[in-house]
This record gives sequence, C-alpha cells and structure tokens, in this order.
Amino acid sequence: MTYESTATTVSIDLLKKYDRPGPRYTSYPTVPVWSNTVGASDYRQALANASRRQDEPFAIYCHIPFCKRRCYYCGCNTVITNSQRRVEDYIRALMNEVENTAAMMGQRRRISQLHFGGGTPNYLDCQGIAQLLRHMDKFFEFVPNAEKSMEIDPRVTTVQQLEFLAAAGFNRISMGVQDFDLLVQEACGRVQPLELVENLLSHCRRLEFTGINFDLIYGLPKQTVEGFSKTIDAAIALRPDRLAVYSFAYLPSSLAHQSKILPEDLPTTGVKYRLFATAVEKFTAAGYRQIGMDHFALPEDELTRAQADGRLFRNFMGYTVQHSPEMVGFGMSSIGYIDNAFFQNHSKLDSYQNAIAENQFATYRGLRLNDDDLLRQYLITQLMCNFRLNYEDLAAKFGVAYNDYFGTEHKQLGVFFDDDLLREDAAGLTITPVGRTFVRNIAMTYDAYLNGSQADKTPTFSRTI
Ligand code: SF4
Repeated sequence: MTYESTATTVSIDLLKKYDRPGPRYTSYPTVPVWSNTVGASDYRQALANASRRQDEPFAIYCHIPFCKRRCYYCGCNTVITNSQRRVEDYIRALMNEVENTAAMMGQRRRISQLHFGGGTPNYLDCQGIAQLLRHMDKFFEFVPNAEKSMEIDPRVTTVQQLEFLAAAGFNRISMGVQDFDLLVQEACGRVQPLELVENLLSHCRRLEFTGINFDLIYGLPKQTVEGFSKTIDAAIALRPDRLAVYSFAYLPSSLAHQSKILPEDLPTTGVKYRLFATAVEKFTAAGYRQIGMDHFALPEDELTRAQADGRLFRNFMGYTVQHSPEMVGFGMSSIGYIDNAFFQNHSKLDSYQNAIAENQFATYRGLRLNDDDLLRQYLITQLMCNFRLNYEDLAAKFGVAYNDYFGTEHKQLGVFFDDDLLREDAAGLTITPVGRTFVRNIAMTYDAYLNGSQADKTPTFSRTI
C-alpha cells in the first residue's frame, strides 16, 4: 500500500517556547490532586451505584508489576523478582479482587475493553494468564468486538505466548522498543536486537493482531539525531499500525536506579527537541497521522478513523475507540473510574495484597468529580483526542454556553491563535496539524487546578516536550 505524505514540520523555536511542566491528561483532574480521604468504602459505594447501569459495558485494566531486571530508564511501578511464589500470591490476590468486584457489580457483567499493563504483563506464563482469564470469564462477559490488549517486552516474549494470546481473543499488542541503536540500548541496560522485534512482529501479523503498537522513547542516554533518525527509519520500514514516542524524564533523585545513567550521556535539551521534531516529521512524511501529541497511526488504523469521526477516547490505557466511560482497575497501583470518580489501589505490593486479604478492596486514594470537573474533563478530552471542540455539543451535553462559561480561559488562547496552533470558527475550536504537538499546552488553559478556582492545589508535572 502507498501512503499519502502529510508531513508536519514542528519548529525548534515553538518546542522551546512551549516546553514547560504539564500533565499528560490521561485523566482530568490529574492524579496529583487526588486525595487519600477517598478509600475502599467510597469505592464499594461507587461499584454498588454502577451496578444499576446493567446494560452498559465497562473496561478492565489489569496491572502485572513484575520484571526480571530493571531497565535503567524505567519510570514504571514495577517489582523486580525471580520468585514464582510472589507471582502466584499476586495472581491469587488478583483473582480475589476480580471476584469481590463482580459481587458488587451484580448483573452488570459486560466488558468492552481489557488491557494488561505493567511491569511486564507477559512475565506471566501462558498458564498464569489462562488462570486469570478463566476467572474473569467466570464473572464477566466480553462483548463480541471487545478490545483485548497487552503490553509485551520483546525480550521475554515467546511465539507460544503470542499464539496463546491470539487464541484467547487478544487483538492488540504493544511492544516496548525504545530505540534500535545498540549503543543506546546498552546505556539503558536493555538490549533487544532489531531482528527480535522484526520476528515477533511477523508472528503478530500471522496471528492477525491489529493495532500493533511500538513504543519509542526520546531523550535516552547516547541518543543522537542521526542515530534516532535511523531508529525511526527502521520503525517505518517495519510499519507497525501505531507508534507512541514518549519523552524520557531523568529523575535519579526519586528513581535511584536511573543514576546508572550518566548525566553526560544524556542529549542536551536542544538535541531532545530535534529528536522529537525528527520523529514528527518522519512519521507524518511516511503517511502516519498524528493522533495525539506523541501518538501516530496509519490512515487505515481504527484510531485514525475514530479521530476523523470525532469519537476517539483516552483513558489510562491510552487512546481507544471503545468508549467505556467506566473502568475498573485490578492489581497494585491500578486506577479505575466508576460513577464519576477515580480510584487508585495501593502502589506497594504488600500493601495491596494485605488490603485485598483484609478489606476486599485496596483503594488508597481517588477523587469524586464535581460538575465543573465533569465539564472540563469533557472539553479537555475533546481537545486531546479529537483536536477540536464543538460549542453546540458542549451546550447540548452540559447546558452551558462556551463563551459564558469559559470567557476567562478563552482570552488566554491568543498566543495559540497567533502561532497558528489553534483556529476558531462559529462551530468551535480546531487544533491545527502543527498545534497537535502542543495540545497539552492548550488543554492546560482549561485546567482549574493549574489556573483559576482550584489553583491552590496546583500539582507539579514533568515537562511537556
Ligand atoms: S521492562 Fe518496562 S517496566 Fe520493566 S523495568 Fe523495563 S521499563 Fe520498567
């Protein structure tokens, strides 16, 4: 298939101008403003309320925290272990959590999306995954077109595992690639040759997985513009359906293992801008559509089509076309969204397992959204996912006129109009192709916890580029 180039050039001056701390908006309000006054009894009540919406499908996120060794750049919530007993104990806790949740959800059983994240979800062998899936099948029903996805580490993935996942109805796979350059891989403590990824990709295609995703990271040690360009070219040659290009945040003072990365090996801020600009330019020139600030998908991919129709949705599992507003999280540190409230489980393995054993639920923080939060959540989701906001849709959904409610925020958009990142017509706001890279900055204008009424709770974030 040949692809029409939609090349987008993002200038280094713009990257410099808009690079500031800011949220990624996988949720609104963002995690740092959640409170630990929300706990297991609130979660129980939310599940009971949600059980009344019997016909509405919901989504499941399942966190598998284990990895064999820690990559030096890792920023995830992981447990490094080789102990099979720890894994078995964890699977048992997950199964209890599934059962306790199902008991609260009553007749509400339909699932539209299941995502395994980590850690390394495929640290579990086929038997462990099968045990969990059988248990979920006992209490829930997957809708016919349900999206079942798993993040995999190519270094520990076997063909047998992929065959098992395909037979179990998994249809999406996301691979951690980061960079194909051996020097970068060695500096990150994670060596995985291109041939390994290539081989797994061909098996994924044979097994008819769709929406196959590669995660890349820019800002890693030893990365150069030339080397990363080669990685991007290699990725384009392999043609995954989707790509995510994340920024590496170097935080050795809070993540001690990152101190294995030498500061002098890191690219300068200027080089980091060029790495990202190169990714945007090359992927869009190769026919990929920029579907989020740092996500790209082929034109025929479901995500691209959903975005064109204005029905793309984003949650903690990433971009999705399965709009299940409600989601339950299983496992340590997992997040759920139920009955207009966020809930997060304990992020330490022992605390999680003890809480499940004692209280049935392991919620340790969360946030119930008020009317203003819900309105801003909708607006920010529209911008982040569909790159536009329709004033009539907003009024129909919330009974407010955009100009009356967001008059103050709108006045702050001038800088984005001037730089042609954003345009307005009678119907609403549209983010331009260049503006897509800066969608977080635009969304931040509407964040009540960064500006305006809730600003006293202002959280801190990593940088937007
Ligand atoms: S595989 Fe992923 S989660 Fe595990 S240590 Fe490496 S980066 Fe962290």
